[in-house]
Amino acid sequence: MKEEIFNVADIFGENVFNDTVMRERLPKKTYQKMVEVISQGRELDLETADVVAHEMKEWAIEKGATHYSHWFQPLTGVTAEKHDSFISAPMSNGKVLMSFSGKELIKGEPDASSFPSGGLRATFEARGYTAWDCTSPAFIRQDAAGATLCIPTAFCSYTGEALDQKTPLLRSMEAISEQSIRLLRLFGNETSKRVVPSVGAEQEYFIVDREKYLQRKDLIYTGRTLFGAMPPKGQEMDDHYFGAIRERIAAYMKDVNIELWKLGVSAKTQHNEVAPAQHELAPIYAEANVAVDHNQLIMETLKKVAGRHGLQCLLHEKPFAGVNGSGKHNNWSLVTDDGINLLDPGKTPHENIQFLLVLGCVLRAVDEHADLLRESAADVGNDHRLGADEAPPAIISVFLGEQLEDVVKQLVDTGSATRSIRGERLETGVKTLPDFMKDATDRNRTSPFAFTGNKFEFRMVGSQDSVGEPNIVLNTIVAEAFADACDELEKADDFEMAVHDMIKRLMRDHERIIFNGNGYSEEWVKEAERRGLPNIKTMLDAIPALTTDKAVKLFEKFGVFTQAELESRAEIEYEQYAKEINIEAKTMIDIAGKHIIPAVIKYATELGNSINTIRSACDADVSVQTEILLEVSDLLADTKKSLADLQDAVEQGIKIKDDNHKRAIYYRDVVVTAMEELRAPVDKLEMLVDKEAWPMPSYGDLIFEV
Ligand code: ADP
Ligand code: MG
Repeated sequence: MKEEIFNVADIFGENVFNDTVMRERLPKKTYQKMVEVISQGRELDLETADVVAHEMKEWAIEKGATHYSHWFQPLTGVTAEKHDSFISAPMSNGKVLMSFSGKELIKGEPDASSFPSGGLRATFEARGYTAWDCTSPAFIRQDAAGATLCIPTAFCSYTGEALDQKTPLLRSMEAISEQSIRLLRLFGNETSKRVVPSVGAEQEYFIVDREKYLQRKDLIYTGRTLFGAMPPKGQEMDDHYFGAIRERIAAYMKDVNIELWKLGVSAKTQHNEVAPAQHELAPIYAEANVAVDHNQLIMETLKKVAGRHGLQCLLHEKPFAGVNGSGKHNNWSLVTDDGINLLDPGKTPHENIQFLLVLGCVLRAVDEHADLLRESAADVGNDHRLGADEAPPAIISVFLGEQLEDVVKQLVDTGSATRSIRGERLETGVKTLPDFMKDATDRNRTSPFAFTGNKFEFRMVGSQDSVGEPNIVLNTIVAEAFADACDELEKADDFEMAVHDMIKRLMRDHERIIFNGNGYSEEWVKEAERRGLPNIKTMLDAIPALTTDKAVKLFEKFGVFTQAELESRAEIEYEQYAKEINIEAKTMIDIAGKHIIPAVIKYATELGNSINTIRSACDADVSVQTEILLEVSDLLADTKKSLADLQDAVEQGIKIKDDNHKRAIYYRDVVVTAMEELRAPVDKLEMLVDKEAWPMPSYGDLIFEV
C-alpha cells in the first residue's frame, strides 16, 4: 500500500475561512472592513455581512458543503449546532438556488428552551439568538453527514443575557484589553492598541479499544467506570510517561493531527501521559476565544477519529478509579497587538518594573479571587481529581519558581530588589551532547497555578470541561487588579515612587498565595489553613463563589456577567450535578441488577453443582471450592442489600423537586455514598469470580490492551 504523502503546510487551515481566503475572495473594500471589524472590534454592517456571506457560501460549496450551522457553546459543556441547508425556495423551472444572506450569517435563532438557562428563561423569554463571532473564523467540518459550514457564534437570550461560554469570554477579553492598555500607557507605551489574552490548552485523554468499551455500559452512559477492581499493574512503574507511542495509537494520532491541521488547529505536541492508555495533545497557543473554540474542536476530533480506528476516546476526568485522571492545562499570557508579552520578565526581572507590577497584580487577583478560580474548574468529574494525590490540590496557590520567588522576597524583606538569580550552564558530562543554559526556574508539577517562563499555567481544569470559564475568570480578576492599580498610579505625582511602593505593597499583601513546595503534601494543607487560604474540596462547595457580593461586584463592574447571569449559572451547575450523579446511580443499578448479580448467581450455582458432583463421586477435598462459594455468597448478599439501598436513595432523590441546591446536596451526601457502598462488594467479587464469567472487561483489559 502506498503511503499518502502530504505536506502539513499544504493542508493547514484548508477548511478554514481565514484571513488568506478572505483576502483572496472578498472585494478589497469588504476585506478591509472585515479586518477592521476583527482587529479593532468595530461593528459589522449588514451590507458587508451580505458580501461576506455570499463569498463564504461559494467557498463552502466548492468544498462540498450543503449545509451551514451556527456553532455555539451552551452551558452543557459540549457544543451545539443547528443545521440548515443552503437551499432556498425552488424556482419556477424546478431548480433550486443556493443562498446564504448576511442576516443568516450574523444571526440564528435556535430554540433556547432546549438549553440550560438556569431560571433566566422563566423570568425572560424562551427565545434565544446566536450571533456570529467574526473573531473566530468559520470552518468546514467533514464527517459522515457530509460537509457543513460551521459558523462560531455566541448564544444569548431574547433580552441579551448570555446563555453560553463565548459571550462572557468576549466581554472579559474586552475588559482585560482596556485595562492592560491603561497600564501600558503609564509606562510610556503609546503604540500598542489592544492586548489579547493568549491561551494554549493542553488536553489529556484516554484511549481504549472500542469493542471493549461497548461492553461497558458505565463508560457508555457516564464516561467513567463505576465498577472495576485494580489490575495487578497500575502506573507504579512510571513506564508510560513519554514512553514510545504504540503503532495503533500513533496511526490514530496522525489522523487526529491531519484533521486538526485542516481546521487550522495547530496541534503540536503529543505524548503519553502518566497513566497507561493516557495521552496528551497540545496546540500552539492562540487568542483566548479562538483557543477555547479550538479546544472544543480538539475534543470533538479526538472522539470522532477514534471511532475510525476501532478506538474510543475517554475525556472524563476520572475514567478509572485508582488510575491518574485527566485534566487540561490552561496556559495564559497577555500579548499586545504588536507582540509584547506582559508576562515576559526578561533576563533581569528585578529591573523590569512593568513586569513586577503585572506580577503583583496577578498575585493579588489570584489571592482575592481564589474561590472563583477554583469554581471555574469545578465540574462533576473533577471532584474525583482535585485534592486527590495526582491532580493539583483543591487549594489555590501560585508557583513562581526560584528566580521570581527570590525577587519577591527581596522586595518584601528590604523594600527593593537588586539582583536576579541567573540560569546556569547545564553540563551533561557527555562530550557529544551540547551543554545548554538551564532555565532559571525549575518546574513544579504539583502547583495549580504555575509561572512557566512567560505565562501562567492553570492546571486545575477538568479534561472534558470548556476552558471558557477559567479564562473568563482570569481575564476579569486581572482586569480588576490592573484597573485599581491604574486608578491610583494615574493620579500619582511621582510615578516612579508610586509604582515602587505599589509593587512592594502588592507583594507584601499577597505573598501568602505563593507556594513553591509540594502541593500534594499533608503539611501544605495545614500550612494553607494557617495562611487563611481557602480549601474548597468539592464542586458543590465551590458554586457559591459565583454569587458572593464580591463576585457580583467584580463581574458587573467589567460588564462580564450580570447578577442574574451569575445566579443562573449557579442554578445550572447545581442542576447538572444532581442530574449527572442520578445517571451514574441509575447506571450502577442497571449493571448490578441485570449483569453482575445474574453472572455471580450463575457462577455460584455452577460452583455449588461442581462441589456436589465431586462429593458424590469421591471424597476429594472440596474445602477451597466451598470457601470460595461461601465468600462469593456473602458478597452477593452484600451486593443485593447495597443495590436495594441505592435504589431507595435514588427514589428519594427524584422526589426532591424545585430546589436544585437541596437536590444536589442530597445526591452528594446520600446517593454518592450509596454508590460507594455498592461498588465495594462488587469489586471484591470481581477478584473472586472466574474471569470468563465476569460480564464485562476488566480495568486491565481496558487500559493495557489497546
Ligand atoms: P510547558 O512545557 O511549559 O507546558 P509547552 O511549550 O509545552 O510548555 O506549551 C504548553 C502550552 O502552552 C502550548 O499550548 C503552548 O502553545 C502554550 N504557550 C506557550 N507560550 C505561551 C504563551 N506565551 N501564552 C500562552 N500560552 C503559551
Ligand atoms: Mg504544561
